[in-house]
Amino acid sequence: MKDIEKKLENLYTKLGKAYYEGRFEDPLPELLPLFDAITELKYSQEQNDEKAFCPQCGNELKGQAIFCGKCGCRIG
Ligand SMILES: [Zn+2]
Repeated sequence: MKDIEKKLENLYTKLGKAYYEGRFEDPLPELLPLFDAITELKYSQEQNDEKAFCPQCGNELKGQAIFCGKCGCRIG
């Protein structure tokens, strides 16, 4: 039984993810708070991942930058 419950849980999660990523034009109104919560979490995670600053000049660096685009300082 436990195994089936886990599989069901997994499938529900996949279903939810597909629903979210499918960008349906008219999601069920009662699901909108969930959409908002997911978007907010995703957005805050992206913010954390991408926020990096050049130690030399303080220029904001994006993604996996190796050199600062402003002063050419090597990062890392
Ligand atoms: Zn710099």
